[in-house]
Amino acid sequence: MNKTVTTLPRFHAETWYRHVLDEPGPFDGLAAAQRVGTVVVGAGLAGLSTALSLAERGDSDVLVLDRGEPGEGASGRNGGFVFGGFSLDNLELVRQLGAERAARMHGWTRAAVGLVRERCRQMGVPVSDGAVLLADWFDEPQRLQRFRERMRELLDFELDWVSEREMVGYVRSSRYGAGLLEPGSFHFNPLAYVRVIAQKVRAAGARVIARAPVTAMQRTGGDWLLTTPNGEVRARRVVLATGGYDRRLVRRLQRSIQPIGTYVMVTEPPGNRLAELIPGEVAVYDTRFAFDYYRPLPDGRLLWGGRISTADRDPEAIRRLLYRDMLRVFPSLRGVDVDFAWGGWMSYARHQMPILGEIEPGLWSALAFGGHGMATTTLAGEVLAEAMTGDERRIRQFQSYGATWAGGPLGRAAVQSIYWGKQLRDRAKGWLG
Ligand SMILES: Cc1cc2nc3c(=O)[nH]c(=O)nc-3n(C[C@H](O)[C@H](O)[C@H](O)COP(=O)(O)OP(=O)(O)OC[C@H]3O[C@@H](n4cnc5c(N)ncnc54)[C@H](O)[C@@H]3O)c2cc1C
Repeated sequence: MNKTVTTLPRFHAETWYRHVLDEPGPFDGLAAAQRVGTVVVGAGLAGLSTALSLAERGDSDVLVLDRGEPGEGASGRNGGFVFGGFSLDNLELVRQLGAERAARMHGWTRAAVGLVRERCRQMGVPVSDGAVLLADWFDEPQRLQRFRERMRELLDFELDWVSEREMVGYVRSSRYGAGLLEPGSFHFNPLAYVRVIAQKVRAAGARVIARAPVTAMQRTGGDWLLTTPNGEVRARRVVLATGGYDRRLVRRLQRSIQPIGTYVMVTEPPGNRLAELIPGEVAVYDTRFAFDYYRPLPDGRLLWGGRISTADRDPEAIRRLLYRDMLRVFPSLRGVDVDFAWGGWMSYARHQMPILGEIEPGLWSALAFGGHGMATTTLAGEVLAEAMTGDERRIRQFQSYGATWAGGPLGRAAVQSIYWGKQLRDRAKGWLG
């Protein structure tokens, strides 16, 4: 296996999420030469959810290692939207798998939204009253209605219709036509959630170790030997849950994903204006390929996210880009200051579905959740733990989405140009339509 390097991107600036939480409590230490049943590499939501689901099935001989803190990667710095579906477009999922299988798998993601909500309730993580709203950028109500009908018919996925007139009760911007509200969805501080899941993992008897980058791994006999600066770990089973933050540890597997960046900023509290602009306390995204996503925060600030790019950017550039986007939707916010700006890597497979399964004996993958990771990582934890404890029914459904090469640096360039192309198409549609 290969050695890995561990440098952080420039956009890993201080997040509002971390700013409003207390310092995390101490994590477990790594004494030299440990032996465990399962080692999970990566304490994002994919790794932690897998450890939790395993522990809940009676296997807590698990060690989770992260090169930073739990939630250091995308899981602790995302938009905080918890909603159903995979990164792969719903209609494309139906086209590829047929309606029955697609409906079953989509239903699992909605059940996972419910499980995240339930875990939040048990562990005291506040969640929003408002749900997630898809707002129509192109003002094509018939098309949106048709989409809603197809979601119901094909996936048994109910979305509530919000007419253009009713939209003012949720979000007020002349940019939008009608909208669709996803019942059961919500928004929250994802880092707060990561931390309670880490606590739950530890309470179940497993260990979570921070600042322990895995720099190399290899097979020795029937075991895996993982190298960290704090000591070596031997394990029968490894779960690779490194998101978009490592491309080298198991190159054959990790080269099947592309890290794609997306950015977030948080404004100062704009006073009463925010409740006037988003009276429904909803988390909003829109119908473009590269959509804006934003939501009000409990302390009266606005979190604004958007853009997809293969570029690492510094916070000042992120602020400039997103501010322009925000003013396009809410011109009345001109002059409001921005207090935080950051980015994170998502991980995408070519097929835009998670890569879940045992890639070779004892090596499991929990990778490639794209921009839809809050519920699907929880689903992945359940599905992987089921398979590891002998029930492979659900994991088999993911087998058609394996580890295919994502194209390396050339693939990155191709991804970027596809995105630009789609953004241009959206823009042209906005001008013409
Ligand atoms: C800005 C942004 C906004 C987003 N918004 C949303 C949203 O609103 N809703 C939604 O559903 N999804 C959203 N997503 C996507 C979602 O955050 C991800 O799909 C999900 O968090 C992926 O979880 P993960 O555990 O796979 O990866 P990560 O959370 O990235 O975790 C990977 C972990 O592996 C660790 N690691 C990497 N290499 C090593 C190594 N060699 N040794 C030890 N540790 C290592 C990293 O430090 C990191 O903690 C967003 C993503 C971003 C970046």
